[in-house]
Amino acid sequence: MTLQEMINDSKSIVFFGGAGVSTESGIPDFRSVDGLYNQKYDYPPEEILSHTFFVQKTKEFYDFYRDKMICLDAKPNKAHLKLAELEKKGKLTAVVTQNIDGLHTQAGSKKVYELHGSVHRNYCTKCGKFFGIEAITDSVGVPKCECGGTIKPDVVLYEEGLDHDVINGAVKAIAECDMLIIAGTSMTVYPAAGLVRYFRGKYLVVINRDPTSVDGQCDLVLHDRVGEVLDKIKV
Ligand code: ZN
Repeated sequence: MTLQEMINDSKSIVFFGGAGVSTESGIPDFRSVDGLYNQKYDYPPEEILSHTFFVQKTKEFYDFYRDKMICLDAKPNKAHLKLAELEKKGKLTAVVTQNIDGLHTQAGSKKVYELHGSVHRNYCTKCGKFFGIEAITDSVGVPKCECGGTIKPDVVLYEEGLDHDVINGAVKAIAECDMLIIAGTSMTVYPAAGLVRYFRGKYLVVINRDPTSVDGQCDLVLHDRVGEVLDKIKV
């Protein structure tokens, strides 16, 4: 069966996307070898993007974060757009993403579970007030709230746990869908591999340039670019 046939035969599709979906919009994957390694920073990305580093070296965290994690020029690509279209037509029930760039929402998707948060949401660590991305981009040094508290991005840093409501929503969507498309991820990063175990639908599909850890259990495996593959789908 082709991907098109599987989509035609499905009523509730869930898309689970990783970094590969965003790299096609020009957003670097800081975990990849040709990503952000060996660059001008004194610490590896995993250390900078940790809770401890944020607390202890907040200014250095923001130097890196503004420079590398916020890509305001990035636009939704063919994958984001097709998924928004599938949702609009009532075929797709949810997007679950590991990306923090907000591109699915920008493309028009309504039901998006952002497992690792979003650069577009930020909050005061003292009074809890929420801020948009401009609180980070339009400030220098450590962004501060009117109350004097430090503003923190609502993204999940290393050492931090995932939001329970987000993870529960994603689990429920995956458990209830009849087709799960996994794309742009090698499925080795937590919690990706664990989430797939909840799927008990009809079609399990992988779209990824490189082999993944779930290829063996899939009904269809496409080693290709996500945007190219989804662009050909007729809704
Ligand atoms: Zn505040």
